[in-house]
Amino acid sequence: MQILDGKLLARQVKDELAKETAAQIAAGGKVPHLAAVLVGDNPASQVYVRNKVRSCEQVGFHSTLIKKPVDISQEELLHIIHELNNDDGIDGFIVQLPLPAHLDEEKITLAIDPEKDVDGFHPVNIGRMALGLPCYLPATPCGIVEILKRYEIPTSGKEVVVVGRSNIVGTPISILLSRKEKVGNATVTLCHSRTANLAEHTRRADILIASIGKPNTITADMVKEGVVVIDVGINRIDDPEAARGYRLVGDVDFPGVSPKASYITPVPGGVGQMTVVSLLMNTLSASKKAIYG
Ligand code: NDP
Repeated sequence: MQILDGKLLARQVKDELAKETAAQIAAGGKVPHLAAVLVGDNPASQVYVRNKVRSCEQVGFHSTLIKKPVDISQEELLHIIHELNNDDGIDGFIVQLPLPAHLDEEKITLAIDPEKDVDGFHPVNIGRMALGLPCYLPATPCGIVEILKRYEIPTSGKEVVVVGRSNIVGTPISILLSRKEKVGNATVTLCHSRTANLAEHTRRADILIASIGKPNTITADMVKEGVVVIDVGINRIDDPEAARGYRLVGDVDFPGVSPKASYITPVPGGVGQMTVVSLLMNTLSASKKAIYG
């Protein structure tokens, strides 16, 4: 069994991005600039946004963090988005999800200019992805593709089983891996909470991708020998022995499944690390106007 080391890969890709950014600036090009809008005080969102801002600094980007209180109105948030859409100094921006319940996430996502949508959540980018046109790929699926590519894990003709059909992970990765691309050409099955006999599907998987949000959902009896496991889940479980009283686990029972796997991502230190890197890749593309000209 080999660990798919997201931390190591993220460092490598960040080094590459830092070099490319320095070269762009030395050649008179612009310093890429990412803005992040954070609403409220959800602890996980604060950690994610902090990581994104810190990662920008590491590769030589500018970043702007816009923090707003939990009771911000929909109109005020839409106004901020409108301003960011029209600010030539900002190459791309994200609105950290989830938003408080009184805000309409769909309306907020739709308000972002697709040309600045470096999270790749806008329907224009999702539609372009589905058609194989240049686009900002959603960050987590893009990170998974990078992991498969850089570890040279073949996907062509393989059985890929994705568990979870969210708009930001399960659905887009199922589209990407079924497309006619180098990391693609797989036969993809997309499972969800209504799937009958989940284990019958997962046991067929050469590559299993879990994005469920429930710890230990995928157990050893549900996978075949030699499976490649990509565990997207990030779940907090109580752990009185941990300093913070909890620890992070994925959706896959790592101790049970890893001995059967040929490759497996750890949690933490797997997909999450590459998600942030994908956002940086999209921001660099945005600063070059590589997707929309
Ligand atoms: P969602 O909560 O949006 O979707 C979960 C999906 O899992 C749904 O499609 C649901 O089915 C399905 N599901 C739930 N229970 C079962 C079950 N018992 N059997 C089969 N399918 C089931 O999830 P996300 O994709 O947004 O997130 C999933 C996890 O990944 C979370 O832990 C999240 O924190 C983490 N995450 C990690 C990221 C990273 O960078 N590593 C990035 C994004 C998310 P149905 O549609 O029928 O309800």
